[in-house]
Amino acid sequence: MNDKTVRANDRAHVFHSWAAQGLIDPLPVAGASGSYFWDYAGKRYLDFSSQLINVNIGHQHPRLVAAIQEQAARLCTIAPAFANDKRGEAAQLIAELAPAPLNKVFFTNGGAEANENAIRMARLHTGRHKVLATYRSYHGATATAITATGDPRRWPNEPVALGVVHFWGPYPYRSPFHAADEAQECTRALQHLRDTIVFEGPATVAAVLLETVVGTNGILVPPPGYLAGVREICDEFGIVFIADEVMAGFGRCGEWFAVDRWGVAPDLITFAKGVNSGYLPLGGVVISDEIADTFRERSFPGGLTYSGHPLACASAVASIQIFKEEGIVEHARSIGEDVLAPGLAELAAKHPCVGDVRGLGVFWALELVRDRETREPLVPFNAAGADANPMNELAAACKQRGLWPFTHFNRVHVAPPCTVSAAEVHEGLAILDEALTVADRYSTAQDQ
Ligand code: PLP
Repeated sequence: MNDKTVRANDRAHVFHSWAAQGLIDPLPVAGASGSYFWDYAGKRYLDFSSQLINVNIGHQHPRLVAAIQEQAARLCTIAPAFANDKRGEAAQLIAELAPAPLNKVFFTNGGAEANENAIRMARLHTGRHKVLATYRSYHGATATAITATGDPRRWPNEPVALGVVHFWGPYPYRSPFHAADEAQECTRALQHLRDTIVFEGPATVAAVLLETVVGTNGILVPPPGYLAGVREICDEFGIVFIADEVMAGFGRCGEWFAVDRWGVAPDLITFAKGVNSGYLPLGGVVISDEIADTFRERSFPGGLTYSGHPLACASAVASIQIFKEEGIVEHARSIGEDVLAPGLAELAAKHPCVGDVRGLGVFWALELVRDRETREPLVPFNAAGADANPMNELAAACKQRGLWPFTHFNRVHVAPPCTVSAAEVHEGLAILDEALTVADRYSTAQDQ
């Protein structure tokens, strides 16, 4: 296979996600290792997007590859109704890592199905139907998960499921509550959630579904006290608190689960991506004892042919063991604190187009603006076509220099693998430094 054949097959027969099929030109990838992948011409890209923010362990980790090979030789598949050693071990390891009252795991193939089933559990557990989720969110592309999604990917899918109500989460840089600081943002955001519940009718609300740290919609780190406040409100009204950690979990935020940073225990945690870095499709729901009890005598009305797939579960077991032995979560935390935080602050000081820098672990965003005073975004919300040019030019400048960026609306997200070295981060930031001059040209500071 060469670039030409791969491209030709892809263009002729592969139908791609989230794309107008005639307008895309996917790059054929020949291989990958660690923080890099490369094309058939041998051009290397430093992967600052960890693909879809999922390759937390880095590409082709030799021990993880070996564990998959070993399991493939032993037992590739077995139906979910059987007990299986790797499935049980994966569930045990994940339950041990989760907050105390969460002790059981329902496995899925990915994040959307995890949220789909968490919502199903919450509805059956409470006997209520409504789900509250934030506007700035993505929860997956299956029926209920895309309805719960707050971002524009929901629009062309409507109407799908019933019973989702959207509300505003905290976002200090563009406060929906006109708050002056983080503490005020927290108080007002909690009051807004409470009011929403009261006016929706608490007896109709099954769940509040939140990304612990909002991912694609902006790397929005909740202000101190917010998640604890959500927990209290959910307890007050008997509502299930679902933390979507599909993107934020397994090292991304410098914690095993992002909720650990705030010491909060939700009732359900959904995970996928980083649990095995996408080496095989895997996701799931970690379930509290109380909710698991609902299904002790009563059958759970959901399932998947590949729930707890042995090969996928073996890769999760191996990945968690490697994370522990190599201190990958701690590494991600210190890369965030010691390298990314100061490095990105330096870029912000230098480039007038940078309005805000935020994040933790290996999960950061540079929010780009035309004007730092007015905070006018570099491109409009949900920009398409020519409106998106400044961001497209910035992304092209990164790629040309060998950096694969993650861009969304008016933001560049910096999300390398959790295993990235300090030297690799410096290499990537140096490229970003050059590429940001492209965006600076659209900044009003350039006219003065
Ligand atoms: N939840 C969050 C926070 C996500 O970021 C994603 C995917 O990006 C999903 C759910 C959906 O996961 P999947 O694409 O595995 O279905």
